[in-house]
Order: sequence, then C-alpha cells, then structure tokens
Amino acid sequence: MESISSPTKEKLSSSLTPQQTRELVCELCRNFYNLGWASGTGGGISIKENGKIYMAPSGVQKERLKPENIFVLDAQGETLEEPGQGLKLSQCSPLFMHAYQIRNAGAVLHSHSLNAMMATTQYDTHFRIRNMEMQKGVEGFGAFDTLEVPIIENTAYECDLADSLAEAIRNNPKSHAVLVRRHGVYVWGKDWKQAKTHAECYDYLFEAAVRMKQMGIDPTA
Ligand code: ZN
Repeated sequence: MESISSPTKEKLSSSLTPQQTRELVCELCRNFYNLGWASGTGGGISIKENGKIYMAPSGVQKERLKPENIFVLDAQGETLEEPGQGLKLSQCSPLFMHAYQIRNAGAVLHSHSLNAMMATTQYDTHFRIRNMEMQKGVEGFGAFDTLEVPIIENTAYECDLADSLAEAIRNNPKSHAVLVRRHGVYVWGKDWKQAKTHAECYDYLFEAAVRMKQMGIDPTA
C-alpha cells in the first residue's frame, strides 16, 4: 500500500474508506512485525476511522494479515463485523478500548518490542528519561523535559490487564503510553500517524535509556 505516501492519498487519509483502513491495519502490522514489535503473534494495532474501530484478530501471524481478517467494532467496543474463518477478537481489545474511551484516541497499538520489555526491568513504577531530542515527537514534551511512562504489572491473561491499564491511563494524564512489566507497551495517539510516531519515539527512548544504564549513564541526568 505504498500509495498512502503519495501527496494526494496523504490528504485523503484523514477519511479513509473501510477497505483502506483494513489495508492500513495490515500494512502497519507488517511494519511492526519487521521492527520486532509483533513477533510470535504478539502485539498489534487498531485504528478508529469514521467512528468505527478496526482491529486485528488474536493469535495470528501479524505480518500475514489480510484486509478480510480484520474485526470492526463500534465506539463502545461491540462487534459490528467479524471475519469468521475461526478468527477470534484480539485479547487486547478491552485494553485498546480504554485508550479510545478515556483518551479519545484515534489509534492504539500494542508492541512486544524488546526495548520496551527491557525498559520495564530497569525501573520501578515509572520509566523516566530527560533531555532527549526524540521526546519532541511525543505530544506535550520538549527536548529538555522529563518524560515518564507508568509501568503496570503483567498478568497471566492479557485481558486481566484492563483495570490496571485504565487506572494508569487516568493517573498519568500526560502519558500517551503504558508499559507492562516484562511484556511490552501500549501506545496511542489522536490518529494512526500520531500513534505510530509516538510508538517510534517511545521505543527509541526505551532503547536509549536501557543502553545508557548499561554504560553507567543516568538517563534522567
Ligand atoms: Zn501483549
């Protein structure tokens, strides 16, 4: 779907057709798989377009998703269209819904990035870094601010994270992400482009902090 990057289509992307949105979910899942964010069927992305939420199914090879495999939900999280073929809605669905409903997000993604996972082993309740140029890619932060991301404890089943994720979202109004201990991260934005930018910047900052700590540098100095 390289046409997305052409100037004409770029303008149209603020109102994608249902088919374009389905294709975009698949394209982004492939990108995230190639970044190592969705290996072993983990991770995924959902996009809200024209009031409907497009979401990948659970436990599938994220780089091989097809547009017809996507679930469509309404703004309350009720399923409107399901792909059949024995596919089940993502276990992340209640978690994605919290970011949509509490933060009015336009897209939410879940990454099993090694950088995010490692960052959770280096901090107690909040990831923390400051004085990083890449912080400017996260809405509300400048290069010389301190950027924090709350960390919640992992659970045996992904859906059991929903309550603690909602609490962390409410208690950290400046954050556009919640880390899950030894698991990964949930990231959102006002639309899919901002969610993607946020995810890339956060991932860079997680990796930077882990590497700094390895070298004995304090990421909050
Ligand atoms: Zn996960």
